[in-house]
Formats: sequence, C-alpha cells, structure tokens
Amino acid sequence: MKKEVKILEDCMKVAEHENLIWVCDGAANVGQVGQAIGVLLSNLDKGRMCCTVAVAAGSKRHLEIAEKAKKNIVINGCANRCASKVLENAGKKINYEIIISKYLQKVPTLDIYMGDAKKIAQIIIEEAKL
Ligand code: SF4
Repeated sequence: MKKEVKILEDCMKVAEHENLIWVCDGAANVGQVGQAIGVLLSNLDKGRMCCTVAVAAGSKRHLEIAEKAKKNIVINGCANRCASKVLENAGKKINYEIIISKYLQKVPTLDIYMGDAKKIAQIIIEEAKL
C-alpha cells in the first residue's frame, strides 16, 4: 500500500507559533538517531524540522526563521553540540537542547534502530513540553 506523503507547512509562515527542530545530522549512529527523531517529531506535529546547515551557511531566510521561532529545539548527536553551536554562533536562542550520546553510545555506523529514536523522542516531548 502506498504511504501518503505528509506535506509540511512552510517554516517561515509557521515559525512564530511552532517549535522549530534543529538536528546535527551527524555521520554516526547518534547523529542519525537525532535526524530520525526530527522526522518523527515533525510527523507527529510536535514541531517542524528546519535546515540547520542553512543557518550555518548564513542563509538570511533561515536566520530569520530561527529568530521568529516559538521555541528552538536542538538535537545534538554528541557532546560536540554542533547543532547548538550553529544556533549560538548565529546569536539565536535555544529553548531546549539534548545530547543523544547521553542516552545511546556513539558508534561509527549509520545503521540505527527506530526503537532508540522513539524512546529518546518521548524524552524530548516530556522535557521540552512539546
Ligand atoms: S554533534 Fe556530534 S554527531 Fe552531531 S555533527 Fe557534531 S560531532 Fe557529529
């Protein structure tokens, strides 16, 4: 059976009333679990994943989106906190941040278990009050 495609609202249009989710998308299990959580939370309408790399690249539009966001929710794979540093360097507020490697050992693999993503997504929903 074909899965229906979920079309997300435009980040800029919804930012003021939306939890914007910024993931590091790092190339290790913890980064990929963080990315999967961003997708999960967006599909659950708990927030809207936005382009972290675009903020790092200085995209005016994305800097504005991060500025307008109701809440900036930042998901880092490990203690390097790359996604948080992207927002901090751009001078944007961080309302909540998590480091996935506190809950899951960092391993150099891109294979992840959705069970890990679901479990940590639940922690974020509770801690960040999404
Ligand atoms: S926070 Fe860790 S996992 Fe994420 S991009 Fe940085 S080094 Fe990679």
